[in-house]
Amino acid sequence: MSRIRILSEHIANQIAAGEVVERPASVVKELLENSLDAGATRIAVQIEGGGTRLIRVMDNGAGMDEDDVLLSIERHATSKLRDESQLAAIATLGFRGEALPSIGSVARLTILSRPRDRETGTRAEVRYGRLHAVHEDGCARGTIVEIRSLFGNVPARRKFLKSARTELYHIEEVIRNQALASVDAAFSLQVDNRPILDLPGGGGVEQRVRDVFRCQDSLLPVDFTAGDEENGISLRGYLLQPDASSSRTNRLRILVNGRPVRDRMIRHGVVEGLQGFLMKGQSPAGALFLQLAPAEVDVNVHPAKLEIRFRSAQAVHGFVVQAVATAIRAYQEEVRSEIFSIPAAAPEQTPAPVFTAEARRPLSVSSPPAAGSVPMSGGPVGMPGSMVRRSAEPAASFRHDPAPFAAVKPPAGLADFTGLTLIGQFAKLYLLCEKDDRLIVIDQHAAHERIMYQRLRRDYLRRDIPGQNLMFPVSVELDPRQLETLKRYGADVALLGFAVEDFGESTRVIKAVPALISHLDPAEMLVEILASLCSAPRDDPAAVVPPRIDHLLASMACKAAVKAGNRLAPAEMLELLRQMKESELFSHCPHGRPVVKIFAKQDIEKWFYRI
Ligand code: ADP
Ligand code: MG
Repeated sequence: MSRIRILSEHIANQIAAGEVVERPASVVKELLENSLDAGATRIAVQIEGGGTRLIRVMDNGAGMDEDDVLLSIERHATSKLRDESQLAAIATLGFRGEALPSIGSVARLTILSRPRDRETGTRAEVRYGRLHAVHEDGCARGTIVEIRSLFGNVPARRKFLKSARTELYHIEEVIRNQALASVDAAFSLQVDNRPILDLPGGGGVEQRVRDVFRCQDSLLPVDFTAGDEENGISLRGYLLQPDASSSRTNRLRILVNGRPVRDRMIRHGVVEGLQGFLMKGQSPAGALFLQLAPAEVDVNVHPAKLEIRFRSAQAVHGFVVQAVATAIRAYQEEVRSEIFSIPAAAPEQTPAPVFTAEARRPLSVSSPPAAGSVPMSGGPVGMPGSMVRRSAEPAASFRHDPAPFAAVKPPAGLADFTGLTLIGQFAKLYLLCEKDDRLIVIDQHAAHERIMYQRLRRDYLRRDIPGQNLMFPVSVELDPRQLETLKRYGADVALLGFAVEDFGESTRVIKAVPALISHLDPAEMLVEILASLCSAPRDDPAAVVPPRIDHLLASMACKAAVKAGNRLAPAEMLELLRQMKESELFSHCPHGRPVVKIFAKQDIEKWFYRI
């Protein structure tokens, strides 16, 4: 007798279940896909006991007649694939014909279904892989699939399930992702009879993204296409604004040709495209839809089809980077015109800027700062005067870069060049401005930090961060670790604008410092930069600016920027606004905090019950 035997169908199903049915969420995923493949526009999911007691999915799709109900629970029975020629360009979500029999082999499965052209429906019950009962039953058009006692016959699998809360989280994730893939269908989720999710269909992609992420803020639209119709590739969707407090639900969801996937390469491309916009441990959030020729992707890598493979991964990566970077720029232009566009109204209709008498005095480079204020303009260093150069005064200047707020010209019409009317400074930190019935509040530190960062980043990419020679070089003692770091990253340190020379064993002489931070203590800055080079994020060879350098640029920008607590003269505020207007990116600081908040007059009127 031969030792090799064909597996019984029951065992084959159980093995398949091991791949397809990992946890309750994977059952939900398969059932949602089946409903959508059946053309459902309304899908309701009910869960009890974290999915182990009950998973019920009800749809208004095409339904099945008695023959099809019985076939659907047979292994390799599918209505979606007839011959192998269809395999390369499969349009349905399922096609293996494995899901229902696999699920049925590890649970109690009931299918109740009625197609449009039948008066009654069919109810079939499978218990742990064996057909238990089939009979006619009344039901609405569509299909109801119920799974009870999941893994009831496989205690080992059941033990591996996490808490009901964790399983529910995964179920919600599946529904959210599928809801993004099918924006026209309505999805709902009830857990132990309580409504948890309600995603009405038909509102379009943007509304679906808002619903899925529960997000009211403005979104960053992504819409980028390359190539022709046949070999084209497109990335569309919406990113959430960077937000330090992003939660688990606020993450990046990627769909490739309509299929939710996990893909590190695309994710990396998004992070790369957002470089300088999203920082310090923040992860991107939003929903992106990548569309490309089906032959360019192999979806068949993972049984649950979450992972995919690209034929030309490098090209796709580059495309994603470009698409996201373009979206960020477009978004900045939109905010820029919202804030800074010159209003169409005739000049005399624009309210005159309201300044105090002191503020109205002629503004010039040499005007002495008002009592208690810190000069940002005029001084030789052009930086807040409280930060006095300690060891290297005076500096011989070969600066290529104008100091941040130096030489403010008396503005002609105070509101004209920005389209904004400056009201004044609040709490020595916020610039209050007015424009077209809106109050615009700007965080002066965050704004200036972003401007400085953009400038540093640009200069770094041109390999041209201006250095400033010190008239009196500063010597500094370094410990062995610092010496080692300096040796290793010497080229980077030089690129940042430092000129450091050996002077004996552990002494180094600083002859030049980055111009932007030339008002700070050179030795302290060098030591700080060496320290952060040691602890900086791991380098990513694909990044435009190595993350460790980016990190340094951001901290240099932060140090160089005007601080909270600095009182600014009107001319300095206007200069900051002008620089903001001209900065490539300005809506968020390099750490992702917002720079600008806009309040509509109507909202303010509501505070006072005027409307
Ligand atoms: P696959 O989806 O890979 O074809 P399944 O085991 O998931 O395999 O489903 C088997 C078949 O049962 C499907 O091809 C489809 O014809 C039918 N079916 C499953 N669920 C539904 C449903 N909700 N509505 C209509 N038909 C369904
Ligand atoms: Mg299926």
